[in-house]
Amino acid sequence: MSGRGAERETAIAAVARAALLCRSVRDAFDDRLRQEKADRSPVTVADLGAQVIVSRALAATFPADPLVGEEDSASLADPAIADAVALAIAAVEPALSAGAIAAALDRGGAAGGAAGRWWTLDPVDGTKGFLRNEQYAIALALVEDGVPVLGILGCPNLPRSDGSGIGALFLAERGAGAEERSLDDPATPGRRIRVSGVTSTAAARYAESVEAAHSAQDEAAAIAARLGIAREPIRMDSQAKYGVVARGEAEIYLRIPRGDYRENIWDHAAGVVVVEEAGGVVSDVDGRPLDFTTGRRLLGNRGIVAAPAALHAKVVDAVRSVLAGGGPAAGH
Ligand code: AMP
Ligand code: MG
Repeated sequence: MSGRGAERETAIAAVARAALLCRSVRDAFDDRLRQEKADRSPVTVADLGAQVIVSRALAATFPADPLVGEEDSASLADPAIADAVALAIAAVEPALSAGAIAAALDRGGAAGGAAGRWWTLDPVDGTKGFLRNEQYAIALALVEDGVPVLGILGCPNLPRSDGSGIGALFLAERGAGAEERSLDDPATPGRRIRVSGVTSTAAARYAESVEAAHSAQDEAAAIAARLGIAREPIRMDSQAKYGVVARGEAEIYLRIPRGDYRENIWDHAAGVVVVEEAGGVVSDVDGRPLDFTTGRRLLGNRGIVAAPAALHAKVVDAVRSVLAGGGPAAGH
């Protein structure tokens, strides 16, 4: 890979260290150290600790770069959570004061937008998967003039595709390809990954969220039927889905919106670079490219359709006809 070397190295090291923190919190998980945010998604010590780790690493090397991060210091209001976050950080880095922790979290309050360069972070994407000890991801992307150009996904519970163990890191830079590394050895260059070469939608597998509230699984099943897909969906939390598509274990990622939900940019920016650099196409359910210039949410898009370039248009056609009320009947 070439270009953006310092960005790549800083981001990889930060994601791997945040993953260590997540694993150590996970190992010592205490259900009392969990609270419900206003949007009812669970916030854990790991989300907050991981954002502190990544935010501080970026601030040290790229102090002028804004960060669009999911979490903020309001979650520290409960002293039990604040103490647990400080302990979790101290397990992987020198201990920090309460003020330093709050400041690192609140550096993530940037607005994003069309101009300049900024980072976006989901410190624990798939929090529900983390709580179930299933899939979750530390997702970090660099966005330049509205275009994600560097994406890193740390997936602590995902088996590596070379069979060498658990814990995968996906890394992709715009124009330079995508690779998979070991999360335990993140500085060592990994294997190039490519999306599946399957060219018939009937032979495809699709991935979707475990959470039916996050993606309309019934409509996805109708879309799959329309495409002639017979295999069961691969249900997986987090942007690990993008990694699985990028390395060819599933052809398609469907995220079918419920109501007027607009996606958070940190839920997709890193995964989009990984899939596109592996030869895939990512759009919304209308086939439009994702527009990362609209602030902290993808206000101009609804849902997600990711697939190898050879299949993407066919998948979008099926999505559109099912969402327009066409049902599962037509041929493929
Ligand atoms: P997943 O693991 O694929 O289910 O995605 C997890 C992400 O879903 C979280 O990081 C949330 O930001 C996001 N999310 C929360 N509510 C919704 C919703 N109603 N529709 C789609 N995504 C959501
Ligand atoms: Mg998320």
